[in-house]
This record gives sequence, structure tokens and C-alpha cells, in this order.
Amino acid sequence: MIIASQLGYDQHGRKSILVSDNVPEASFEVIDQSTNRIVLDGKLTKQSVDGRQLFSGDFSELSQPGKYEIRVSGCRPETVQILPSNKIWSESVLDSLNFIYSQRCGAPVPGVHGTCHTDVFAEHNGMTVPFNGGWHDAGDLSQQSMQTGEVALSLLEVSSVYQKEQPAFAARLEEEAEWGLDFILKTRFGDGYRATSLVPPGGRITKSATLMTFVLVHTTARMIISCLRVLRAKPRWSPTTLN
Ligand SMILES: [Zn+2]
Repeated sequence: MIIASQLGYDQHGRKSILVSDNVPEASFEVIDQSTNRIVLDGKLTKQSVDGRQLFSGDFSELSQPGKYEIRVSGCRPETVQILPSNKIWSESVLDSLNFIYSQRCGAPVPGVHGTCHTDVFAEHNGMTVPFNGGWHDAGDLSQQSMQTGEVALSLLEVSSVYQKEQPAFAARLEEEAEWGLDFILKTRFGDGYRATSLVPPGGRITKSATLMTFVLVHTTARMIISCLRVLRAKPRWSPTTLN
């Protein structure tokens, strides 16, 4: 079996394959699918990976974007693609963005769920705040500020990469980050404390307004750092909103 990157290979990066079978010839061919011509004859090198014998092949010298077929005698051919550096992650970023969107909490997600967790509140020092929004981050539909901060920060960082060449995509990434920022801001109590996570006794969440008593309220260094980084990446939010 030929093991190749399913994502594709960076035009200017290292490109390699692994072959897991014993092969009759320690060589491989790379065929350009647009011309059906062999563009590289490569050598396979024996390698030991975790005690298992494999063969590896390198075709880093190819840098022309396109689709290629890799052939090794005795193995099923594998199709791979070489992509420009600024395009290689786009598909994964879009998939990740759609996944994060599908995890939105507190609002309907078409085809996934209706409005949710509207009966969850956090109480602290005489103040009550709703505890929904951001994104579900576990199978039990729980939700945590720290993870929300980390996801929002990642979305903002990725957004900046696409700002020039794909502004609409960058704007969509930023919009999703703002969904998380909204949760971070609305779950603060203004005295340094925040509602941070929904953890009922025994770890089981039930449909009950009494959930409000199970929302943890505390402040941790890690969470504050996470929120700070998000807010710094988003200058129009005032640092005073950290409280
Ligand atoms: Zn929810």
C-alpha cells in the first residue's frame, strides 16, 4: 500500500510517500495526470518505523501544482496533488470552520439543532448571566470559556492569513470568531469572575433550570491569558471588558 498525504503537498515543501508492502522493485514513478507522462523516476529507501520495515520515497523536486499519480510495482496507484503554499490549507480550514459553526450553542443551526441551552444561567455575587453561546465543545453539549477563547483566537489568526487574497473568507472566519467573543464577554461578572464551565454533579447534564447552580464560577490564570490574547487580536474590543 502506498501511504501519501491526503491533503496534498506544499508546492515548495518536502514531498514523500511510504510504502508498507514488500515490493519487487525499490522504485516508484510519478505521472502527471494532465499529460499522462512520467515526470519522475524515484528510488525507494528501506526504513524501520516503530520496528516495522517500510519503504520511503521522496519526490520533493517536483514543484508544479497539479494532480499526479504515484505508481509502485505491486501496489495500487495513489493520486496526490501538489498545491501552492497559500492554498494547501484552504480546504481544511473551510471544513474546520463549518464544523465549528455546526457546534454553535444558543442559536439554531439548520439541520443540526434548534435554539439550545436557554435554561442555563450562572449566578455570582447577586448577578445572574445566561450561560449559552459560543460553541459546544463536547459530546454532552457542555461549553467552556477557555476553549471558546482558544477557538476564537485560532479563527482570528487564520482569518488574518486570508485577509488579502480571500477577504470574503477572512470575513467569514472573523464572524465566527466574534460568535465566540460574544460568549466570552457575556459570561463575565465584571469583578474578575466569569462563568467558565457547565459541570453538573456526576458529569450528567439534564434539562432543568436548576443547571444554574452547577455552573462553575471562577477565574484562572490560564483563562485570563486566553481571553487577553483574543482581545489583543481584536483591537476594537477594549481591554476593560476583561473584568
Ligand atoms: Zn447549546
